[in-house]
Amino acid sequence: MSQNNPSHCVAVIGGAVAGAETAGALAASGAEVVVFEQNARPYGKIEDGLPRWHAALRNKEYGAIDKHLSSPGVHFVPHTAIGGDLDFAALVNEWGFTGVVLANGAWRDRRLPVEGADDYLDKGLIYQNPFVIWFNHLDESDYDGPAFEVKDASIVVGGGLASIDVAKIVMLETTRAKLAERGIDEPLLELEVKGIPKVLERHGIQFEDLGLEGCTLFYRRGMEDMPLAEIPEGADDTRAAKVRASRRKLLEKAMAKYRFELEPLCMPDGLIVENGRLVGLRFRRTQMVDGRPKPTDETFERRGSCVISSIGSIPRPIEGVPMKGEFFDFIDWELGRLAGYPTVFATGNVATGKGNIVASRKHAKAMSAVMIEAFLGLGEDGHSGEAAIARAANAEARQAGEEIAAEIQQQPAIGADTLAGIRGRVAERQQAVGYTGDYASWIEKLQPK
Ligand SMILES: Cc1cc2nc3c(=O)[nH]c(=O)nc-3n(C[C@H](O)[C@H](O)[C@H](O)COP(=O)(O)OP(=O)(O)OC[C@H]3O[C@@H](n4cnc5c(N)ncnc54)[C@H](O)[C@@H]3O)c2cc1C
Repeated sequence: MSQNNPSHCVAVIGGAVAGAETAGALAASGAEVVVFEQNARPYGKIEDGLPRWHAALRNKEYGAIDKHLSSPGVHFVPHTAIGGDLDFAALVNEWGFTGVVLANGAWRDRRLPVEGADDYLDKGLIYQNPFVIWFNHLDESDYDGPAFEVKDASIVVGGGLASIDVAKIVMLETTRAKLAERGIDEPLLELEVKGIPKVLERHGIQFEDLGLEGCTLFYRRGMEDMPLAEIPEGADDTRAAKVRASRRKLLEKAMAKYRFELEPLCMPDGLIVENGRLVGLRFRRTQMVDGRPKPTDETFERRGSCVISSIGSIPRPIEGVPMKGEFFDFIDWELGRLAGYPTVFATGNVATGKGNIVASRKHAKAMSAVMIEAFLGLGEDGHSGEAAIARAANAEARQAGEEIAAEIQQQPAIGADTLAGIRGRVAERQQAVGYTGDYASWIEKLQPK
């Protein structure tokens, strides 16, 4: 089997971590691979989900994605959304691919669970995904997506790593703005690595002097329930208590370093609306019963400058892919298999059902408090050590890719005519979107300004 005469030709939907690792694994197994990516650049959540202060990690991940997508036998097709520009069922049933791999991630924000909340979208209500995309690109002159204002006294509803990132964004940006009012320009990275109190101290300023109300993260579980370190399966009470204590310690460290507040044990329960704008939320107090938050009779209100909902990312539906509730209706979650599509597989965030790889169940086994500490910038040397998370994340994506490649080897080989037909259609689509076929020069041309 050679790259010129492959026995399999596989479509991969999405070119980021999971898609690129799978493409690499498939190409290494001798298959020809076509990666369809809806955006111009393939970096997915690495570019648009991971806050931009993870600069070193991001560049490393970009490098890994670039390496796979420029491998011999891998065709990159940018600006091509499956379910939009091309039909999913046709790709699976008509193009002739021996396999199709969904690696399209989780880009839809889970809705804030209060009736009528979405009526206040951009009128006080903001969702995490567009907010972080904007934050990561706000310094780029060619960014033309939705724009937001980071406001003091923001209410963040969430509870996972991503919501801590959102609270950090609010605190870092509002602190920078206050410092700018005093003629002090502190780079975001400096503030993030050193932490707000340390940087202020250098200028002889106390946080309280800034006149910021601060940002509060509202969480429906307890402080020690936040999934910042995983309790190993079968752990005894002593071990579980230790993990819970380290979760609390991590959170307290993050709150001290970035000065956000946390209100645990409460869930959004109603809207506070004034003059057509969402100006706060009514919360219902919860209590943890058998590991689950149970609503109580107590409620309280909190006003804020805006509400940022950060309660999870779920896959965007693709026409033709069966759904069960918020997720694709996989009959096998390990390989991401769908009923009625024997040649379709899925990997990455779309198949973990989580918006961030750190929280994926399989992967969580490898996550220790030390790794999460490095990821949150709370270690002794800022983010040094977070590469370990990336390595574990990539290894998992790679393993999933190899398992899918092995399954695809079991499929009947592709005929020469079918392969020629696919190559022709791919070249046509690449031409239509202005892609010359040379990955390196395409990426070079698209460097952010
Ligand atoms: C250490 C570490 C920590 C991280 N922490 C977080 C975190 O806290 N929060 C977070 O959000 N992310 C985080 N990330 C980013 C994380 O890497 C990704 O969430 C994860 O790698 C999932 O990658 P993916 O390829 O499954 O999905 P994505 O990165 O989402 O990639 C999916 C790709 O598919 C494309 N696509 C989607 N739909 C279509 C379609 N219909 N047709 C064609 N293309 C499509 C998208 O444009 C995108 O490029 C972290 C990463 C690392 C390394």
